[in-house]
Amino acid sequence: MAETILVVNAGSSSIKFQLFAIGQGDQLDRRLKGQIEGIGTRPRLSARDANGASAVDESWSPDEVGELSDALDRLVVFLRNYVGRLPVAISHRVVHGGPDFVEPTTVTARIIDRLQRFIPFAPLHQPNNLAPMKIVLERQPQLLQVACFDTAFHRGHPEIADRYAIPENLYREGVRRYGFHGLSYEYIAMRLREVAPEIADGGVVAAHLGSGASMCALSAGKSIESTMGFTALDGLPMGTRPGQMDAGIVLYLINEKGMTTKEVEHFLYHDCGLKGLSGISNDVRDLLASSDPRAKLALDYFTYRIALFVGLLAAALGGIDGLVFTAGIGENAPGIRQAVSDRLSWLGIELSEMANRKNELRISSKRSRVACYVVPTDEELMIAKHTLGVLRKSTSEQLKEKRA
Ligand code: AMP
Repeated sequence: MAETILVVNAGSSSIKFQLFAIGQGDQLDRRLKGQIEGIGTRPRLSARDANGASAVDESWSPDEVGELSDALDRLVVFLRNYVGRLPVAISHRVVHGGPDFVEPTTVTARIIDRLQRFIPFAPLHQPNNLAPMKIVLERQPQLLQVACFDTAFHRGHPEIADRYAIPENLYREGVRRYGFHGLSYEYIAMRLREVAPEIADGGVVAAHLGSGASMCALSAGKSIESTMGFTALDGLPMGTRPGQMDAGIVLYLINEKGMTTKEVEHFLYHDCGLKGLSGISNDVRDLLASSDPRAKLALDYFTYRIALFVGLLAAALGGIDGLVFTAGIGENAPGIRQAVSDRLSWLGIELSEMANRKNELRISSKRSRVACYVVPTDEELMIAKHTLGVLRKSTSEQLKEKRA
């Protein structure tokens, strides 16, 4: 097989990965999509090839694969057999790049140290994202590793969108409105140039509606505002996170309900959102299938908040030319898109019922004043593209050094 790039997204007990082959003209072809899950409990490596056929399905005992390093070893062994050699680069999805990381970055021990400082900004995700970098750096120091950040695409926000109304010293130590899902929005902005050039240079509101959900205001393909802020808790209600909420509720939970900060953290990340509101499920499919009025309330709340935030982001843009839906819900739930659009008829938004029902690319009617699209996101491809860019740059710099 050609040279490959391995894209890694590491969680607390799982590693999701995708393998891209670098083809002619630096075309990237997805070859594998898989995961190692149940690390330390029921470890299992599974992956499918580009045709959806199983490429591997192996399980071990927790004694054999008890830790992340064991899981990475198994993955390397599998990839060596499958591809015939190691990837030329490994890229890591990193949730938080803090105030300074605006570009994909080559991983070194110093960079890992700097990224460790942002653990308090994303305590549930950042340590897991950094762990495989350290292991690979120890074992294969010569292998190019690239960190790509979910915050980076939003770092060009104007200062007014980057601030909270809190004292300056907190801003300076990093308490800012970062925004997340940046790799998804960057991909959407790139893709709009191909599929919807008539809006790509205008004002577009993109809605990433998955188990995590946020929205982004894109002005000529650049992010200028996001519904998420310091952490991925703000903005839209999500599967299990509440979204925008009065900070006084947190004080109430601590002062009146006697909850510890750890308990509040667990509550905010796992017990709220669609799950908390419905008391039924965090999965929109379950809620759509349910006749329980609480399911309807949760879905109404979801679409109501999306529509409110379209108004907010349209104000940031000074007008709106396009509305884009993406991610699990955005790509697959016509009823949710319809309900959002119905709430936005005042903006001149109108869907074509048929195009929407079929999940077509352009779903607005001819009369609609705002063009509405469904654009499937591909964060891993975006990461692989960034990594290839870093790889090509470092190769050309090495060549220059040799010549000098
Ligand atoms: P993601 O995080 O982008 O993978 O999205 C995952 C979420 O998408 C799930 O929690 C579901 O709620 C939602 N989802 C996936 N397929 C559908 C569907 N056909 N209809 C409604 N929601 C869906």
